[in-house]
Amino acid sequence: MNYNKKTVKDIDVAGKKVLLRCDFNVPQDKATGAITDDKRIVAALPTIRYLLEQKAAVIACSHLGKPVATFDSYVKKQAEKGKDPASITEEEWKKSLAKLSLAPVAKRLSELLGQEVIMAADVVGPDATAKAAALQPGQIMLLENTRFEKGETKNDPELAKKMASMAEVYVSDAFGAVHRAHASTAGVAAYLPAVSGFLIQKELEIMGGALANPKRPLVAILGGSKVSSKIGVINNLLDIADTIIIGGGMCYTFAKAMGASVGKSLLESDWLDYCKEMMQKAKEKGVKLLLPVDGLAATEFSADAAAHPVDGVDIPDDMMGMDIGPKTIELYTDAVKNAGTVIWNGPMGVFEFPAFAEGTRAIAKALAESDAITIVGGGDSAAAVAQLGYADKMTHISTGGGASLEFLEGKELPGVACLLDK
Ligand code: ADP
Ligand code: MG
Repeated sequence: MNYNKKTVKDIDVAGKKVLLRCDFNVPQDKATGAITDDKRIVAALPTIRYLLEQKAAVIACSHLGKPVATFDSYVKKQAEKGKDPASITEEEWKKSLAKLSLAPVAKRLSELLGQEVIMAADVVGPDATAKAAALQPGQIMLLENTRFEKGETKNDPELAKKMASMAEVYVSDAFGAVHRAHASTAGVAAYLPAVSGFLIQKELEIMGGALANPKRPLVAILGGSKVSSKIGVINNLLDIADTIIIGGGMCYTFAKAMGASVGKSLLESDWLDYCKEMMQKAKEKGVKLLLPVDGLAATEFSADAAAHPVDGVDIPDDMMGMDIGPKTIELYTDAVKNAGTVIWNGPMGVFEFPAFAEGTRAIAKALAESDAITIVGGGDSAAAVAQLGYADKMTHISTGGGASLEFLEGKELPGVACLLDK
């Protein structure tokens, strides 16, 4: 996959109409609809400000949540949930859509920018097209939720063409959505010169750089809950990394594959052979694969469960492994010390419970203090690093949950592949 893509600085946007795909998929309060975290809107500001300074007319767009775009599919979905189809009204469906309007985002964005954000009532309908046609250089408008159009998730070329026809240039800055081939994330690029904004540029430079041409040694730290959700990541990083460190819930399937007893720990029996295969692959490739040598266990999975230290790899029958232990922390942080690059995905333990957060905290601290290029990918890992107060000490925290995982898997990302090569 080519990560070397043209950015908004490589083309002339002055006075042009620019369709800008953002990731405004913000969390909202269920009852009031209020935006509970505006991080994603704030993250989009540098690209937006640059475009406005260049006197582009910015037509921003994004999806928000998972609206059901047609009444028919809404009825089907509700019926699947056990509702009587006859009782479902069109009004109820429209209400469900209204809850996912981007209007609150337009309001917040306008406060942050200190200028009006013109809100369109539709995506490619009469209101959006009229407002886009009238939009002046230095002005910004926001289209309604792209998923209100049923063609969005199907990457319908007709929808993509309509969106593209409002603008002269396409800028993508929605890294969180680049793993999806949708009309607004990839389809439009067939009809317009397409470049990245600053957010995607940073992801490509740092994550792409670490994967394509890492400063060595490259240490990958992999944890989280399941082997099965990380198979692609493990497999791809085994081709690239010098050392792979395994922690979190997934380490027990590896431990079991090596013959250890794991008690009631998270275990994915279907993946034992895969773990063996990966250990074999590591051997063949000369990749150092580190597994925990001690841990903390508990008799139950609960926030107030007591932490029992376990020396060695075997977890007692009535217990489950919840975190890595002090010896493992030392082993892992030592491996980080000499690294040129560290890629971290997945917490080392159940960090949400304070008694089992130490492993994750120690790794976060080691990365924060290291001179290596430090990259954190994955939704929970990013949340853990932020919660522990180390966010600003990392070289890069990838902003896309699913997208950063697919990036680490080495998969082609449709929303990146569609951009112009440098
Ligand atoms: P990411 O979102 O960063 O890719 P994952 O979703 O794979 O990470 O995993 C995060 C989850 O893994 C956390 O909720 C954490 O509690 C859980 N986890 C970590 N260690 C264990 C363990 N030993 N047993 C069960 N769950 C674990
Ligand atoms: Mg997760």
